[in-house]
Amino acid sequence: MKLDFESQRNRMVDEQMIGRGIRNDRVLGAFRKVPRHTFVSDEYRASAYEDFPLPIGNGQTISQPFMVALMTECLAVKEGAKVLEIGTGSGYQAAILAELAGEVYSVERIDVLADRAKETLSALGYKNFTIKVGDGTLGWQEFSPYDGIVVTAGAPKIPENLIGQLKEGGRLVIPVGGSFGQTLVIAERAGGSVKTKEVCGCVFVPLIGKEGWGDRGVKDV
Ligand code: SAM
Repeated sequence: MKLDFESQRNRMVDEQMIGRGIRNDRVLGAFRKVPRHTFVSDEYRASAYEDFPLPIGNGQTISQPFMVALMTECLAVKEGAKVLEIGTGSGYQAAILAELAGEVYSVERIDVLADRAKETLSALGYKNFTIKVGDGTLGWQEFSPYDGIVVTAGAPKIPENLIGQLKEGGRLVIPVGGSFGQTLVIAERAGGSVKTKEVCGCVFVPLIGKEGWGDRGVKDV
């Protein structure tokens, strides 16, 4: 049986996103366009537009579609913006950002995931993205400052490096909390200080690195 991915994608946007309060037309348009099923392995393609995260290998996940939409809306990406993503994973969030921003930079700590994401994004024709392997808790100094930074793994605290790489007025969207549950936070750099706003509860895989969790997903002592 041939799967009608376009219908599934539109239903995902209508029910999971608009139905739960995502309103930004540019954001919704990007989700109607990006073929999420190409970011997962064959065994998960039939579930690619369902309302849950899916495994992408190496113990990692492609996040629940609604959470990707919510984080993207929170980032308030303007046309031509320069954005940084920490946690490339499958490359799906990077593709959504590539639809909305001018330039997308993304850092992934696991090389096989970074390589696969590069291949998927290139095969789909995206040219405005750059991916590197590294510790994203350090950001990506070379291309900073950024209009927006989104972190797609759960951090024990807001990494200072990331705040330092935001433009004035720029936003960082990041899950912050314990290793089994976090709060989605928007941190905005404004007039030399940082204003934070809590959005909702969420559950992400751990952000592992210098300003994140230790290698076993727990805080180093
Ligand atoms: N944004 C991804 C997508 O669209 O598929 C989903 C990301 S997955 C929930 C979180 C990713 O963060 C994993 O691929 C994990 O390897 C990565 N990660 C964890 N700590 C990291 C770090 N310090 N730097 C870069 N990537 C990291």
